[in-house]
Amino acid sequence: MKTRILIALFLLSLAADLVWVRGPFDWRMIAAAFAAWYLADFGSGLIHMIMDYIPCRPGVGLADLFFYPGSRESEDYLNLRDRVWGRITLLERVAYDFKNHHPRPDALGRRSIVFLVWTTVLFVTLPVSVAFNLYCLAFHPPGWVVVGFVVLLAGGTLSQWFHGALHRERNPAFVPVMRRLGLLITPAAHQIHHDTLTRDFSVINGWSNPALNVVFRLLMRYRVLTPAGLEPT
Ligand SMILES: [Zn+2]
Ligand SMILES: [Zn+2]
Repeated sequence: MKTRILIALFLLSLAADLVWVRGPFDWRMIAAAFAAWYLADFGSGLIHMIMDYIPCRPGVGLADLFFYPGSRESEDYLNLRDRVWGRITLLERVAYDFKNHHPRPDALGRRSIVFLVWTTVLFVTLPVSVAFNLYCLAFHPPGWVVVGFVVLLAGGTLSQWFHGALHRERNPAFVPVMRRLGLLITPAAHQIHHDTLTRDFSVINGWSNPALNVVFRLLMRYRVLTPAGLEPT
């Protein structure tokens, strides 16, 4: 219930921004929308990269969950999971979920849209959107700036839903259309990430993957990220 209220607040905040899109059509709105679609993809990849490689806190049972040998529907597993969830923060759980996605990719495709977006809304897009509401009230930015911001916030919010769509057979009709237009990354292109775990972290349209792959190689070279972070210990 709380998550739905959170999402409703975010949608209200986003709708409030649209009030500032006024006046005649401006070609810069199209340019801003494409730039924002790129930036949202870059953000999705950067957060994915960090969450994949940031080490989990050892000794709290996350490794027992990750390597659990039996059924994940058993009472024993569910009790263990509840105990571990009680010991870690929400952000630690988000990082664990990213790592857990690699051995069990299809589970993401079965998640609801609320589950897939609410932590992004809570930690990132709702605070940014409210700050942008206040910015609009104070400075009355031009319409193309607002369009760019709304596309960025909407794309960023839906990034894990788009990721889930890559691991789901049945999707709304606009998803395959946008893939054909190059506006969304395809499952085949995303599979490169799952086959390597060292490249192509972006999950919206993949446009930012070449740039982020360079960032990843640099972070690995200077050992800011290490392969040890990929699995809990
Ligand atoms: Zn990953
Ligand atoms: Zn995936």
